[in-house]
Amino acid sequence: MKSKINTAALVGAIAAIGMLGLSPAHAAQKFVSIGTGGVTGVYYPTGGAICRLVNKKRKEHGIRCSAESTGGSIYNINTIRAGELEFGVAQSDWQHHAYYGTSKFSEAGKFEKLRSVFSVHAEPVTVIARADANAKNITDLKGKRLNIGNPGSGTRGTWDVIEETMGWKRSDLALAAEMKSAETGAAVCDGKLDAYFWLVGHPSALTQESLASCNANLVHVNTPEIDKLVADKPYYRKAIIPAGMYNNEEDIITFGVGATFVTSSDVPADVVYIIVQAVFDNFDQFKKLHPAFANLKPEEMIRDSLSAPLHEGAIRYYKEKGWM
Ligand code: GLU
Repeated sequence: MKSKINTAALVGAIAAIGMLGLSPAHAAQKFVSIGTGGVTGVYYPTGGAICRLVNKKRKEHGIRCSAESTGGSIYNINTIRAGELEFGVAQSDWQHHAYYGTSKFSEAGKFEKLRSVFSVHAEPVTVIARADANAKNITDLKGKRLNIGNPGSGTRGTWDVIEETMGWKRSDLALAAEMKSAETGAAVCDGKLDAYFWLVGHPSALTQESLASCNANLVHVNTPEIDKLVADKPYYRKAIIPAGMYNNEEDIITFGVGATFVTSSDVPADVVYIIVQAVFDNFDQFKKLHPAFANLKPEEMIRDSLSAPLHEGAIRYYKEKGWM
């Protein structure tokens, strides 16, 4: 946003500030919040990484960005819809359902103002089980005590889909706990649960801690029913957690979604542009802010896993870069 200091530019700047709903004197006080997930997940540091790059130029653009720990994907989408969050991280399956008003969003109806900004890391379905649960594949979880995710998490929403796909009832689990992700590792280590389940980028701090400090292993999520689900739905894909990522000697075969960064068309284009610019103008630095970002490529991030239309402020930046 470099402009020569002349009257026209000044008028333009004041008009732009006006569009943000700010008086010039308070331009430094424009806050944007990013809804993320539990503090030991990857969404929370993702929001933190984006905000860190945005806030570096706060004096120039007047936006102060903060990342909030939340219940996860579905909470974030609903709270953006209510106008109480500007941005959020959300699984691509729930972005899809929110935009089209399907599945858990059928009652609320289409969220037509939902906008994609970019996609981030892949999120494989990840099951961590105590060794004494003897679980190799997801089919071994029947009759076990499993954390299925807190309400509002994308994890929980996707569990409901997996359960239906497998033809299971909730009573097929000995216990279906609804703890927040940050509480699950200790519950498995302490023997209060046999396993926990989540959709998360890798490496993730909590997964690492559970597998390093408890006697626990990753579980495959690989069945004919899951293969059919992946074939039927555009927002799922087969995925692996590579051998050696944690204590796993072999690739863990599973399926997953993409983590995506979303907003609403009610958020001004200038604000979205500044956020996108902060990430992609400093992309090498962004990638270093979390190990799950190591393989990110801009051309994939602006295209893959996005069901809702791109926000116009993001399109402006991508066009300027010649990426669109
Ligand atoms: N995908 C998870 C969810 O929406 C959150 C994962 C994370 O916190 O990194 O529930």
